[in-house]
Amino acid sequence: MVGLTLGYGIYIVDGHQTRFVPHELRHVHQFERLGSIKSFLNLYLQQLLECGYEKAPLEIEAREYEPG
Ligand SMILES: [Zn+2]
Repeated sequence: MVGLTLGYGIYIVDGHQTRFVPHELRHVHQFERLGSIKSFLNLYLQQLLECGYEKAPLEIEAREYEPG
């Protein structure tokens, strides 16, 4: 794991900020859009279980905001 977002707290392994700040900010947008962190986590974890990390729609959306 390189990045983790908990509410408005974004934690990124040093040296990976350029790629992962936009990715993690998209997760912030997602939980705001869904109305709460609880709603986000319910959907996010459901997608991880059903689709796996690579194919989870919320992850695909966040990756679209990574540069390059
Ligand atoms: Zn992500």
